[in-house]
Amino acid sequence: MPEPRRIPLACLPTPLHRLDRASADLGIDLWIKRDDLTGFALGGNKGRKLEYLMGEALDQCAEVVVSCGSLQSNFIRQLGAACSALGLRCAAVGMHLPYDPPAGKPEGGIGDKGGNVLLDEILGVDLRRMPDGDWMDLFAAAHALAEEYRRAGKRVYEVPVGGSSALGAYAFARAAEEVGGDFDFVVTASSSGSTQVGLHSGFIGTRTRVIGIACDPEPELPNDLAALAGDLDRLTGRSLGLTPSDFDFRLDWVGPGYGVPSPEGNAAISYLARTEGVFLDPVYSGKAFSGLMALARSGALTGKVLFWHTGGTPALFAHE
Ligand SMILES: *Cc1c(COP(=O)(O)O)cnc(C)c1O
Repeated sequence: MPEPRRIPLACLPTPLHRLDRASADLGIDLWIKRDDLTGFALGGNKGRKLEYLMGEALDQCAEVVVSCGSLQSNFIRQLGAACSALGLRCAAVGMHLPYDPPAGKPEGGIGDKGGNVLLDEILGVDLRRMPDGDWMDLFAAAHALAEEYRRAGKRVYEVPVGGSSALGAYAFARAAEEVGGDFDFVVTASSSGSTQVGLHSGFIGTRTRVIGIACDPEPELPNDLAALAGDLDRLTGRSLGLTPSDFDFRLDWVGPGYGVPSPEGNAAISYLARTEGVFLDPVYSGKAFSGLMALARSGALTGKVLFWHTGGTPALFAHE
């Protein structure tokens, strides 16, 4: 396949280092991949995906990029910054707490002011707030917003939630190359799926097994992961043919719901700050690390383990 166009935005490769004190405490050889330090627009895993997504937006001569997410979306913040840097307009629909209808709307949730919402305002993102509803309502509203810009005569590039298109997954297949095959396990937060799909694909052929810790109570997510892996196959011309059961996806540490901090996640945030001086976030990486801690303490996680820190720290500053 021709290499997709890549716009350099992130500071790569991100640092990779051992967590000595946590290793001793948890009884594993624990390392961390610092994608919280991708640099651009305060960092996070979306920086890698945006390098390729913005490449496609420019290839299509887009004037406006449209997406959606929760109000505290790290993706919208980084997308807004990427659009600024490339002279494009960024428009997005945000819901405070999108939810899955079977799980229902959870109580609580991080605040809808400060944090990423403030950063979106500073960036001048055209952020349209809509009342809470399910993810499908949110995706439909984003599509309607794209149509609004098209009717106004603009060329629009639409990006799926979290940047999880084949190009987003491709970015993480490439990210795996920064690490090599030296780990027994990689543990990462998983939500819209392209981080897990990309890493899983990228580590095929090594001994490394990727575990995705869910941040969204969506038991059907492995189906989405397999569909996205199929899109990635079509992009790369490889035929990995991954199926839902190929993905190790754990729903045990979601807590009360998407965007709602969990006691275990909050404890993990304090733990890593106090043992290593590293900040996690309440929506994704804190929950993922709480899963890693539980798996290590139960003996299910052994050997050389890499925690893939996906960022999200601006959400620590969300408030009501
Ligand atoms: C988006 C995000 C994730 C989840 O990544 P996906 O590719 O959407 O599964 C994890 N952590 C943080 C901080 C994020 O912003």
